[in-house]
Amino acid sequence: MRAVTVTPGVPNSLRLADDHPEPLAEEGAILVEALAVGICGTDHEIVAGDYGEAPPGASALVLGHESLGRVLEDPSGTLQPGDLVAGIVRHPDPVPCPNCAVGEWDMCRNGEYTEHGIKALPGFARDRWRVQPRFAVGLDPALAPVGMLLEPASVVAKAWDHIERIGTRAEWQPQTVLVTGAGPIGLLAALLATQRGLSVHVLDRATTGPKPGLVRALGATYHTEPVGQVDLDPDVVVECTGAPVVVLDAMCKAGPAGVVCLTGVSPGRTIDFDAGALNRELVLENNVVFGSVNANRRHWDLAAEALAQADLAWLASLITRRVPVGAYAEAYTPTADDIKVVLDFTT
Ligand SMILES: [Zn+2]
Repeated sequence: MRAVTVTPGVPNSLRLADDHPEPLAEEGAILVEALAVGICGTDHEIVAGDYGEAPPGASALVLGHESLGRVLEDPSGTLQPGDLVAGIVRHPDPVPCPNCAVGEWDMCRNGEYTEHGIKALPGFARDRWRVQPRFAVGLDPALAPVGMLLEPASVVAKAWDHIERIGTRAEWQPQTVLVTGAGPIGLLAALLATQRGLSVHVLDRATTGPKPGLVRALGATYHTEPVGQVDLDPDVVVECTGAPVVVLDAMCKAGPAGVVCLTGVSPGRTIDFDAGALNRELVLENNVVFGSVNANRRHWDLAAEALAQADLAWLASLITRRVPVGAYAEAYTPTADDIKVVLDFTT
């Protein structure tokens, strides 16, 4: 069968294997036929050789952590043949640490977790894969064209879950949210904000392309001015760019008792910044700044509900390119107007 693989650490080792072995029974009872995988910045880093780890004893890593497939067989009876399914990316560490021991593997303490298509587990960019019932998330049948968005949606479902847990340390009646960055994570964070009835503002540099229209279609306001100049005192800021200057401005932007959630990963870069001013802002306003990554089972289930309630046409418009597997190299080459690029296994 076909599989998209890299040799981790070797730049541009991306290839499409035609004779990849069928998934091993030990990977899980549920056998799945791949429909699509989504591609994100993590994939680009792995293809560049900056990141990624092959399974023990293997030299190649199958890519793909944003999965969507159709169940072929499930002897456990958890799902039915024909059901749409996505596989949870991260598996708990084997020790396990206190968080992994209770299913909160997104909060792993020892770093020994594994991740499909990223760290020591084969990914979902192959014609067939297997998944254990506890890592299989069923999707509403209507989500067939867009279900590979479940993984990025799970990341923002976790972010919102933790924002709300932090917010409820005191009386919590948020009204306004500022999202920085209108990529897939920022747009999905904005979607979940609108589902909460919040007044949503999204900031991005792009003045052309699909982003302004996608934000307005949510009923949200689109901004292109610097964060500090946005005339708002948001209760929540969700930072999705990882750009150091934007991150710093975002940390100072929340209103009193506000919560700032950082979801972007920054490149190393030194910038001048007034640590005293940030300290005064956080202390005198009771603000919280926290980082958020990955998602556990509960967040995947919340994300599946959020996608099922969303406007299908809007979700579909996040997918700006759908590339057949045979043209895989094109799919892994980013272009300026991409929001989400999807590798299509049905062709
Ligand atoms: Zn752990």
